[in-house]
Amino acid sequence: MSIFEALESQVRSYSRGWPVVFDRAVGSQLFAEDGTPYLDFFAGAGALNYGHNNPALKQALIDYLQRDGVTHALDMFTVAKRDFLETVNERVLKPRELDYKVVFPGPGGANAVEAALKLARKVTGRESVINFTNAFHGMTLGALSVTGNSMKRGGAGIPLVHATPMPYDQYFDGAYPDFLYFERLLQDSGSGLNEPAAVIVETVQGEGGINAAGIEWLKGLAELCKRHDILLIVDDVQMGCGRTGPFFSFEEAGITPDIVCLSKSISGYGLPMALTLIRPDLDVWEPGEHNGTFRGISPAFVTATAALRTYWSDDELEKSTKAKGERIGAAFDEIVTAYPEANLLAKGRGLARGLEFASGDLAGKVCAAAFERGLLMETSGPDGEVMKLLPPLTLTDDELGKGLDIIAESVQTVLSK
Ligand code: PLP
Repeated sequence: MSIFEALESQVRSYSRGWPVVFDRAVGSQLFAEDGTPYLDFFAGAGALNYGHNNPALKQALIDYLQRDGVTHALDMFTVAKRDFLETVNERVLKPRELDYKVVFPGPGGANAVEAALKLARKVTGRESVINFTNAFHGMTLGALSVTGNSMKRGGAGIPLVHATPMPYDQYFDGAYPDFLYFERLLQDSGSGLNEPAAVIVETVQGEGGINAAGIEWLKGLAELCKRHDILLIVDDVQMGCGRTGPFFSFEEAGITPDIVCLSKSISGYGLPMALTLIRPDLDVWEPGEHNGTFRGISPAFVTATAALRTYWSDDELEKSTKAKGERIGAAFDEIVTAYPEANLLAKGRGLARGLEFASGDLAGKVCAAAFERGLLMETSGPDGEVMKLLPPLTLTDDELGKGLDIIAESVQTVLSK
């Protein structure tokens, strides 16, 4: 029995689908300790949008470590944090005419979500938050309370309260007008819905099965929030940092959320880092009212700054992400057409793509077949029925072609049985 099986908790999950010991990683490839290469179409669940050990980011990190730059700094002022904040302002906020203050909420995505929920409740004095069916916002109690998946919610061990789920876009396959139920409940003083502090939404639900909300639906949601004086929180932890094309996934809808959660690829290098961006007038916390030990991880600031400077000075990455995404979409459409009896569904936007199968069993078998052929992919959706692709945005056209060939072969192997 390996030390992993003997000592590590059985709660581990990814290592079950990919039961090898990884050692090195470069760009879109991971290498097992015996040297076997794997094409990584999962990219750290979206934490590695610029690939593994990206050379531009790695050099900045090495230089910083070599000169004994401070590594841990609570929320003290540091040169690394100053460079990062200036770069966020210049490369991200100003070009998009966005006016946000930056909260460092803690190292992970769930920290960004907890901070957003806490702040929305404090600002409005209301406790209720609206979330959506099949949402995923993280594993801490506040984040779980706005998460849909029953298995994950079950882990909480206490009632998950102060959140009310509403139907996400296409939940009823277009049978009802958007927001019919939501708006009715808000308007009806007998509905039992407490006045919400905020709505929290993913523009594309990653863990929920690569469900991409329509642009009109997102616009409609933003308008509804304005009409009813509800704060709009966009959780861009997985779909931000260029995953769908633009830096923020909500840009295409032309909406401006009141609060934005970012994590995963914001450090660019796979180092822990998260941001909660807030409208300046929401900046009402007392000093230290939201705190934490790991909110100033300088190596993450350094790689984040290098990533923003390298990839967000022009729109090249956005264009190539959209083009590569369309190539995957076209390849998936071909697969859907080739197996009419399998009732497959191609989903997604940008380089967040999914192929929905009739069952979690089938999607899991396709991922297992792809692993045998050297490709890492995961499943998502309430029953794991969606084969999910989140390749590095920097993958080459050749790597994309190779991955798509493996997927086509794997689907054929599983569906022709
Ligand atoms: N929000 C979204 C949309 C996510 O996809 C995730 C993680 O997958 C989280 C929050 C939680 O992030 P973390 O796992 O870093 O806590």
